[in-house]
Amino acid sequence: MKSDYLLEIEDLSVSIEGKILIRDLNLKIPYGEVHALLGVNGSGKSTLMKTIMGYPKYKVDKGRILFKGQDITDLEIDKRAGLGIGIAEQRPPVIQGLRLKDLMSYIHTSKNNPINTQTQVISDAGMTDFMDRDINKDFSGGEIKRAELMQLLALNPTFSMMDEPDSGVDIESLKNLGHLINRLFKTHDLDCQSMKEAHKSGLIVTHYGNILDHIHVDKAHVMFMGRIGCSGHPKKILETIKNYGYEECVCCLKRGNL
Ligand code: ADP
Ligand code: MG
Repeated sequence: MKSDYLLEIEDLSVSIEGKILIRDLNLKIPYGEVHALLGVNGSGKSTLMKTIMGYPKYKVDKGRILFKGQDITDLEIDKRAGLGIGIAEQRPPVIQGLRLKDLMSYIHTSKNNPINTQTQVISDAGMTDFMDRDINKDFSGGEIKRAELMQLLALNPTFSMMDEPDSGVDIESLKNLGHLINRLFKTHDLDCQSMKEAHKSGLIVTHYGNILDHIHVDKAHVMFMGRIGCSGHPKKILETIKNYGYEECVCCLKRGNL
């Protein structure tokens, strides 16, 4: 029987040059669910996302990652993208000499997107006037986030990861950002084997949780020192963090509740 989970991470440990960044981490995301990842700076949130995406410098020492039931632990990054995994990075690089329109045109051709859809995505992300500029060069914080999200929308992955999509975004723009993110998770009508597989999922890192007022999130996880310390209802977890700080979640981990 096929798994109910789009993504399954089992007992994962990850290191860079011998430094352990993720330890014994377990995470399951069902088809059709969006999960939030919270945690203090340096707790390993970005590392986890980049490991799921398959950035080669992150070495998996232990455990495995399953996507649609397939073991992708040793799969190259482009193959993972081909299977339907996408990421909007926290700090994407500036790509000098490559205009945003060249990248979008590449996505348009490789994904066979209808031209109307592609133009609409660019316009909805408010990026029409940025198409002739080099990717991320001299973009403001909010513009970088919109450019990343625009690429994700055009790629239309089955599993979307967003690393702090709300950082550097002003309060008034959060609502619009929320609309764009919600569109990513609309059920797609591709030639899916089952209805279950038509449902897209995601993982969103947020620092302050403001974006959670505008998007539907099913579950939240708190990371601490490379592990998930606490999982539960997003509103309850955010309330605990706001009232007592991250220490309360760390206590939970220390008590061995998980
Ligand atoms: P978060 O996204 O939760 O703020 P990160 O995943 O970026 O945390 O980082 C987790 C820890 O891993 C930090 O201590 C960071 O310095 C370290 N780290 C991340 N990337 C590297 C790297 N390339 N080399 C060495 N240490 C790294
Ligand atoms: Mg980070």
